[in-house]
Amino acid sequence: MIEPKIPRAEQLKNWAKEHCDTLNALKRLRDYNNATINLANPEKEEISKIATVPALINPAQPAWVKGKISINIDNKNTWYIGCSHCLKKVYAESDELFNCMHCVEKTAVGTPRCKMDVEIVDETGHIVASVFGLPAETLLLRSSKQVMELEQEGKNLPLSNINNRLQDQEFIVQLRSQSFTQQGKPTTSYTIISLHDASLYAITSKTIEHDTLPIQKKRICTEDEDNGDVTQKRIKKI
Ligand SMILES: [Zn+2]
Repeated sequence: MIEPKIPRAEQLKNWAKEHCDTLNALKRLRDYNNATINLANPEKEEISKIATVPALINPAQPAWVKGKISINIDNKNTWYIGCSHCLKKVYAESDELFNCMHCVEKTAVGTPRCKMDVEIVDETGHIVASVFGLPAETLLLRSSKQVMELEQEGKNLPLSNINNRLQDQEFIVQLRSQSFTQQGKPTTSYTIISLHDASLYAITSKTIEHDTLPIQKKRICTEDEDNGDVTQKRIKKI
């Protein structure tokens, strides 16, 4: 039978036709690239201890943890150029218009995107994860473009000073896992898909309410000189 009539599929098709303007507008906003918009905040009971995070996280049951984060100071290649539409790594210059072969967007723009490895620690253990884009910018207090420009000027990110600052903060982090085979062995890696300053949340037993203050407004931090000396760091609370 060719093209059988399935009432629910027909209804969905008609609904999509009727709401096509709204759906296209949502697609243009690309909110699907921002996990902090898409995903509900965790309830208190859903925040796990790091020791209990499974090797393979069920995508339908995201893992939330609360802990301190430090950036691996051996991070190399802390940014890449991604597609403005699907965020995948592409061979384009920053701000260059191109046809994306991943998502077939014809007016994609080359966009710098941070990428680094971090360690998250709580009282039960630690976990290594990768962090990209906005959550990485939240940790660095720098935009991906600034990270790119710094490297192009031949300078390094002051990771020791950034880590000193991060030790004063706790984060609520949402993780997902990927499994792959490395040298014939099954391996798992974790990625941070959203990250929030724990002090900006009022955690209740029912929900975690988002404080509207962005992290950048809470602190002004200058970390230009990466001397790794705690006494030299200049953090001003406002
Ligand atoms: Zn793309």
